[in-house]
Amino acid sequence: MSTAYFRFLERLNDFLPGDQRENFIRVEFRGGQSIKHLVESLGVPHPEIGRVQINSWEGSLDTIAGDGDQVEVHPIQDGCLIEPRFLLDNHLGRLAAYLRMLGFDCLYRNDYEDQELAETLRRDERILLTRDRRLLMRKVVVHGYCPRSLDSLEQLAEVIRRFDLRKRIAPFHRCLRCNHPLESVAKEAVLERLEPLTKRYFDEFQFCPDCKQIYWKGSHYERMQALVEKLT
Ligand SMILES: [Zn+2]
Repeated sequence: MSTAYFRFLERLNDFLPGDQRENFIRVEFRGGQSIKHLVESLGVPHPEIGRVQINSWEGSLDTIAGDGDQVEVHPIQDGCLIEPRFLLDNHLGRLAAYLRMLGFDCLYRNDYEDQELAETLRRDERILLTRDRRLLMRKVVVHGYCPRSLDSLEQLAEVIRRFDLRKRIAPFHRCLRCNHPLESVAKEAVLERLEPLTKRYFDEFQFCPDCKQIYWKGSHYERMQALVEKLT
């Protein structure tokens, strides 16, 4: 048996039980195991990890752990190196709606089979958002994040910070129901589908070419506007 010692920095400690946080954790293992394997055995998913220092040298998740190694694991830096497109698991429906409201491409369904999830990630190079650590640990997941909070607005703030989305916010451009980009539509074209009060008080409309939903700047819009201002 070999022994290595792992210490996790900053927000990676969120994944550890209290007595392991900020401390070196002793791990016994058989030879030939990667740092990634050992780190995930401690409960920390690889998409959350940035730099790995092994005995003060720069290592990586693929480095094979050696007997006596002291490993310091840093969280991945905030920012986004790819187009921020997301795939959310079935417990994050409200977060998906908020992200769509801010203009981000978000796939969300509550019946994704694991295999389908994996394929969608691979095909579109999407970022997986899930509180399911086991899902984040899957090999197919390259970019991902585990929202820490259970509150969907706090989750939104976390995701904006983690992927540095502030400058990319483009609210009210995406269908909340189906994720399709919205198009402007003349009032006359949708007139017969409007309720009497909407017809009377609103003149600007947007329309989803996919699911045919109509949007206008009603009270819902004002609430969202306030949210966007708070976030930016
Ligand atoms: Zn739609």
